[in-house]
Amino acid sequence: MTGKLPYAWSMRIGAHVRQDDDPIGQGERLGADLVQLFLSDPQKWDTPGEHPRKDQILASDIDVVVHSPYVVNVASLNNRLRMPSRKAVAEHADAASKIGAFGLVVHGGHVRDGENVAAGVENWRKLFERQEDKGGFAVPILVENTAGGDFAMARYVDAIGRLWDAIGDYGAGFCLDTCHAWAAGEDLADVVDRVKAVTGRIDLVHLNNSRDEFDSARDRHANLADGTIDPQVLVAIAEAAGAPVVLETPGAGIADDIAYLREHTG
Ligand SMILES: [Zn+2]
Repeated sequence: MTGKLPYAWSMRIGAHVRQDDDPIGQGERLGADLVQLFLSDPQKWDTPGEHPRKDQILASDIDVVVHSPYVVNVASLNNRLRMPSRKAVAEHADAASKIGAFGLVVHGGHVRDGENVAAGVENWRKLFERQEDKGGFAVPILVENTAGGDFAMARYVDAIGRLWDAIGDYGAGFCLDTCHAWAAGEDLADVVDRVKAVTGRIDLVHLNNSRDEFDSARDRHANLADGTIDPQVLVAIAEAAGAPVVLETPGAGIADDIAYLREHTG
């Protein structure tokens, strides 16, 4: 016994690293337990190729999680956006598995203003259903909550609950972004419990402070001690979630953010 229950587990702390050829080197320089990376330009539809450092990544003690491109919107009612989105999720999950990643983060996405939100949820369900016929995704899909939009799939916990009714049985995972939840207008004091009540799980935390006010619907990340959220609230979320933590905070302050978390958590 370590005497530190209920947080006796050792929190894995890491960072989203720059797009270059050396994510493990960046992680080592930061003293990170895990790194998150893109496998292609996040603003494009490129199919990821073999990672130039594949063997090093697989051999490293540093865990890896992949973030899918921002252009992906699985919920979209527009075929010309939804079809490439489905393809991209499958391709990025394949590429993520080849570097031993424990998951692929995919934003909840949205339908357009005035469109049917339930149809967007159904598109998420179909993503999993269709892939199940092919043996499922190569790594777990971690659905991330988003900051804005009244027609989003995962802005509000209520919406996440409706999404989970559709995809929870397919083994979907959840990534909680604290900046997004704050900007979305969700009370951070109990957000971990409320999310777990509907998803049953949190697999990853994106621990970010926010440059903007509560309920601003804006998505601008800040370093932990440098935003509108009380940093102690962020620490409490990291501990309560019981999941690995990735900082997606401005690069110049990430080392300080990691040090802050290590200092303030069990
Ligand atoms: Zn995030």
